[in-house]
Amino acid sequence: GEGVELVDRLLTAAMRRIEDNESELGRLDAVAADGDHGLGMTRGMRAAVSAAREAAGSSVADTLLAAGTALADAAGGASGALYGVLLAETGAGLRVDEITTAVVADAVDGAVRAFTELGKAELGEKTMLDAIEPFRQALRKQAEAGAALPDAWREAAQAATLAAEETANLVPAKGRAARLAQRSKGHADPGATSFALIVTAIGEALG
Ligand code: ADP
Ligand code: MG
Ligand code: MG
Repeated sequence: GEGVELVDRLLTAAMRRIEDNESELGRLDAVAADGDHGLGMTRGMRAAVSAAREAAGSSVADTLLAAGTALADAAGGASGALYGVLLAETGAGLRVDEITTAVVADAVDGAVRAFTELGKAELGEKTMLDAIEPFRQALRKQAEAGAALPDAWREAAQAATLAAEETANLVPAKGRAARLAQRSKGHADPGATSFALIVTAIGEALG
């Protein structure tokens, strides 16, 4: 249906943005960790888009579940599993007739809860969560203000982008980078950066 075509379009936009930034994400991950975030995310997003296309005909929720599972399998690594949960759980929150800003904000709340249960990161530990949580809060605020979904999403993406840039000031306490934490000073977290890129591309594609 219409919703599934939209999901395909949004995921494709996100995939292209990740492809365009593959080497930069790899460079950021190589500062204090293993340098595979660009490659892993490119692989993961391509698999997610393929799976979403194969799921055409099913619901938005099932499409996002298929995309998330494929992403986690193909990307591997910590971020692959975490992004997989984000996609699948956002989808689970969209089992409704009408997708509004409030519905999406609720779905994102649920996804962030599942993400945190899996990754156990806390704010300020220099992970994806440091971009995801500002995104979640901004989207919630936009929903409460009654903003239309494209505008609400773009505001939230803006918050994620600023927050991802600010992770350069943090010291990693979770994930691989925690071992060489001091090296990462002055460089943004790769996962926070990929998250900001993805939600920004989706916001642009929402038209
Ligand atoms: P790996 O570390 O397994 O090589 P990636 O390089 O793809 O995986 O991803 C690294 C990113 O994953 C980090 O920049 C961070 O944002 C995120 N990350 C790692 N561990 C966690 C965690 N426990 N909770 C939240 N995010 C995490
Ligand atoms: Mg890595
Ligand atoms: Mg790795």
